[in-house]
Amino acid sequence: MVTERFDAIVVGAGPAGSAAAITMARAGLNVVLFERGEYPGSKNVMGGVMYGRMLADVLPETFAQAPMERLIVEERVWMATPSSAVSLGFRSAAHGGPSGPGGAGHSGEVPNAFTVLRAPFDRWFAAQAEAAGALLITGTTVEDVIRQDGRIVGVRAGREGGDVYGDVVIICDGVNSFLAQKAGLQRRPVEPSEMALAVKEIIALPREVINERFAVRDGEGVTIEVYGSVTQGMAGYGFIYTNRESLSVGIGALISHLMRTKITPYALLEGFKQHPLVARLIEGGQPQEYAAHAIPEGGYEAMPNLFGDGVLIAGDAAMMVNGLHREGSNLAMTAGRLAGETVVQARARGDISAASLAAYRDRLEQSFVLPDLRKYRALPALADRRPELLAIYPQLVNEVVEEMLTVDGLSKRAKQKKIWRHLRAARSPWQVLKDLYTGWKAIR
Ligand SMILES: Cc1cc2nc3c(=O)[nH]c(=O)nc-3n(C[C@H](O)[C@H](O)[C@H](O)COP(=O)(O)OP(=O)(O)OC[C@H]3O[C@@H](n4cnc5c(N)ncnc54)[C@H](O)[C@@H]3O)c2cc1C
Repeated sequence: MVTERFDAIVVGAGPAGSAAAITMARAGLNVVLFERGEYPGSKNVMGGVMYGRMLADVLPETFAQAPMERLIVEERVWMATPSSAVSLGFRSAAHGGPSGPGGAGHSGEVPNAFTVLRAPFDRWFAAQAEAAGALLITGTTVEDVIRQDGRIVGVRAGREGGDVYGDVVIICDGVNSFLAQKAGLQRRPVEPSEMALAVKEIIALPREVINERFAVRDGEGVTIEVYGSVTQGMAGYGFIYTNRESLSVGIGALISHLMRTKITPYALLEGFKQHPLVARLIEGGQPQEYAAHAIPEGGYEAMPNLFGDGVLIAGDAAMMVNGLHREGSNLAMTAGRLAGETVVQARARGDISAASLAAYRDRLEQSFVLPDLRKYRALPALADRRPELLAIYPQLVNEVVEEMLTVDGLSKRAKQKKIWRHLRAARSPWQVLKDLYTGWKAIR
């Protein structure tokens, strides 16, 4: 095993860990990056949408070489009942990909969002850390931190002679961070209401079929998020994302709700795939891969301490997920980069004390990461307490639209009256106002 002493030790070669390792190795630091998987990405699961700006911030020259599947040109949200959906979509030339041949990632411009498959993406991203001079050690689980006089001075990897020492340890081991506990950063146990479980299938389909079904060209992609009946009364949503020659199809819900309803994630995904609007998009596809993974949804209130003596924490390990906006990888990459920059600056000053590492929190405050998490700090509790809101309103919206679009000889004024009577019976205006206010308070 490694006997050398490192300037920095990074645990976990996901978006956060590789971003941290790249940043520090590029600045000339001696960095080791540990990954428990056989190779980076071998154990990782994600819906699959990543964001160009945050990748380009880490790799300004080479971001376009990333193994992107399709550039997202259209984002849709469906509010579904068991037999219908009201759809809201956004397509913009500004978010469009390259129009010529070559496909995703070849235009040189920073794409807004793109889909990835984690195995090739994480492998490529970690290889950029290696190219910058970091030592990547795969197939090795870090089991503990090593302390001396209260300061964290290294990690204990799960193999013989596995003690490795360094000036700083950056913990990026993902959701349910075991090392956050070992390092004493976790402030309290995470509740089932602060964690979601998502299941996902990759369904192979020919490229032309995807292009035709989603009305896109080669290299262009679509995201669909589905709220409403598909989560069977639980807080969560389903998703369909287009890859080059496959679809990522998945659904997730809060663990507290899965426990209460006793609905299995597998049954949830099967129900989602059988929704008539989903079924026609995946028709004829060959399931290739099935995976389940937790998502930290506790937000700002459930975050651990972000730094300590000799240690920083970034990404899912630090609860950095913005569920409402389907963002996690970008928070992870940004936090990893900022953790790396903090260490580079602390070393340049010759002061790697906890007080010096505290600049990490300031950097996160000045970025979008902490402001966004703070903005939605009340949302996780609301999602846990009031999941019915995600069922009632999609149902009502569908009923209203269906009534208005059904041409049955009833005058439009009569329809309006009918809708109004129906809405009042389903939810009083007072109740709607209260719901709106509750929702607004959680996201303002
Ligand atoms: C189903 C699903 C869909 C999602 N969809 C999206 C999306 O569309 N867009 C988006 O932005 N985000 C999405 N997310 C969230 C996103 O995947 C995460 O926020 C992001 O991957 C966090 O990156 P990370 O580096 O912090 O953690 P991870 O990606 O989990 O990486 C952690 C790494 O650490 C390694 N590791 C763990 N423990 C150890 C150890 N002890 N020793 C050594 N190595 C260790 C793991 O093997 C892994 O490689 C989704 C998540 C899920 C589960």
